Amino acid sequence: MTTEEKINKLRDTLREHNYSYYVLDSPTISDFEFDQLLRELQQLEAENPEYFSPNSPTQRVGGAVTKNFETVKHTYRMYSLDNSYSKEDLEDWEKRIEKLVDGPVEYTCELKYDGASISLTYQDGVFVRAVTRGDGVAGDDVTANVRTIRSVPLQIKGNYPGLFEIRGEIVLPYEGFAQMNAQRVADGEEPYRNPRNTASGSLKLQDSAEVAKRPLECLLYSLKGEQLPVTTQYESLQRAHQWGFKVPDVYQLAKNIDEVLAFISHWDIHRHELPYETDGVVVKVNSLQQQEELGYTAKAPRWAMAYKFKAEQASTVLHSITYQVGRTGAITPVANLEPVSLAGTVVKRASLHNADQIAKLDIREGDTVFVEKGGEIIPKITGVDFTQRAPSSTPTEYVALCPECSTPLVRAEGEAQHYCPNAGGCPPQIIGRIQHYISRKAMDIEGLGGETVALLVNNGLINNYADLYELTVEQVIPLERMAKKSAENLIAGIEASKKISFERVLFALGIRYVGETVAKKLARRFKTIDALMNASEEALVAVDEIGTRIAESVVFFFSEEKNRKTIQRLADYGVQMEISAERMAAQSDILLGKTFVVSGVFQLSRNDLKKCIEDNGGKVAGSISGKTDFLIAGENMGPSKKTKAEGLGVPIISEGEFLQMIS
Ligand code: AMP
Ligand code: ZN
Repeated sequence: MTTEEKINKLRDTLREHNYSYYVLDSPTISDFEFDQLLRELQQLEAENPEYFSPNSPTQRVGGAVTKNFETVKHTYRMYSLDNSYSKEDLEDWEKRIEKLVDGPVEYTCELKYDGASISLTYQDGVFVRAVTRGDGVAGDDVTANVRTIRSVPLQIKGNYPGLFEIRGEIVLPYEGFAQMNAQRVADGEEPYRNPRNTASGSLKLQDSAEVAKRPLECLLYSLKGEQLPVTTQYESLQRAHQWGFKVPDVYQLAKNIDEVLAFISHWDIHRHELPYETDGVVVKVNSLQQQEELGYTAKAPRWAMAYKFKAEQASTVLHSITYQVGRTGAITPVANLEPVSLAGTVVKRASLHNADQIAKLDIREGDTVFVEKGGEIIPKITGVDFTQRAPSSTPTEYVALCPECSTPLVRAEGEAQHYCPNAGGCPPQIIGRIQHYISRKAMDIEGLGGETVALLVNNGLINNYADLYELTVEQVIPLERMAKKSAENLIAGIEASKKISFERVLFALGIRYVGETVAKKLARRFKTIDALMNASEEALVAVDEIGTRIAESVVFFFSEEKNRKTIQRLADYGVQMEISAERMAAQSDILLGKTFVVSGVFQLSRNDLKKCIEDNGGKVAGSISGKTDFLIAGENMGPSKKTKAEGLGVPIISEGEFLQMIS
């Protein structure tokens, strides 16, 4: 087999597995085996850059950065849908249709997925473009971001038309949304409010590598094109599925509105068992011929109708409001409710977010409240049934003292959340910080889990993460459920964490608002903990994507004597406090403020080339604009990029010239 054949074979194999995993939800190999194959392909591609392909399974991790999303006019306008809310609305619609077309009318019923609409273009079976709905006439080109969504096939299979568009909805399934929020809370950030806004926000992120980390899915529901090999909507869905698209299998043909209504009542209840949010049913005239006869109003097709489900609501009694303290000291008020059944689950608690929310709704203990379950996994309280309020009821007074350590709470100007400022003495904060320090994405200490941390703290063995490094096997053995072997593993795990890179140490410190990405940026820019500790707010804000909120938080953290002491101790134990020598050597500021666009095939792998630009302070953009400083042209560069660069007077340089720039 030639190298090229080997590469193609691996790509095909990985595509098949990807399809089984993300489209069919039934993996055929283990994650480990998949990673092995992917790594093999990555290596081959790196060694043979002439076979680069933007549609290789290796490109799912993203990397392209888009500064300004290009506006693209839709070939076929993306319409909105008319809404209906009752049986009568649907029957009226049926009457209107019957007047306009001849012969019997059949309908397809689909669920209405609640996310961000998208139109994908495929040319010769290859994914070439993704555009958002925008105003329906033109949208934003978000190709680089959509390419990272695993259920969007980069290469389709079977007997597909040469050129077509397929439309669908990008959604964030509940489970992935919950995981993202857990991570945000761990990073000391506000959780996202609902999956839909998070999904559509994700499409407009500038860094596609960030999008790649989000568990987005693309559910498809309609084909657009000249000479499509189908005559009905039902067939379109079947075909799209065969070509490798993720078409949810909940759809059904209905002979009349009664059958449509049966579908609606079934899914009004059972939709809660689906892994993603739906907010209604979309009913479409099945025959494409009849669709054409019916046409469009100014806003929507006459041949389709959305039926909106009512948001599920229940009323119940609010027994008490309690307050939780997070790792960063943030206080979250929680409503403890009389258990009530809602959207298929029993609800006992609801988040009240913050003091403003409580004041706004005037919620009081003993009230009867309305609970709703929308996109959020945690139900929310939408209002109070004032008719049920007892005359003796008094307004809620927000807690003034920390429920865990009785310290007076503080609330910074402009912030919604109250905080317990007793970072050093408040048990959930002490335990939470150490739990964060040892967590997988931070110091990843093997043999030590969250519960053991709590045990160690409660037994007075440790009080902050620096204390971990003074623990001995003898101290640990007497703890509950601790054998000699596991105690040794624990100490060995702590010892091994001294090798963890500075970027991760910085994340592990648990500075409010400093998540993984920010930690990386800070480590790259400042290189040593000393430089970072002495950085002014202005110097911090000058770093790309770091705003005043983060800068203030960093300066505050290092201004505290106890934090400086802890860091000194960590350094003395041998924890990494600067970026490693080899990464340092590869870095400079030579390209600071310069934006590059990379196009074509190079000697270096594209990822290495991009890393090279970033390591030297430059930025990589996905498309050419007035802000581009250089276009680095490789072999087989796209002609449109060249024309555009020439038109805008952007200098075009070769890979060799670029390497000279940084040498
Ligand atoms: P609206 O935004 O309320 O006007 O509803 C129209 C939107 O519903 C479309 O732009 C689609 O993004 C979305 N939608 C979700 N599921 C479907 C579906 N099965 N068929 C058609 N449109 C859908
Ligand atoms: Zn406290």
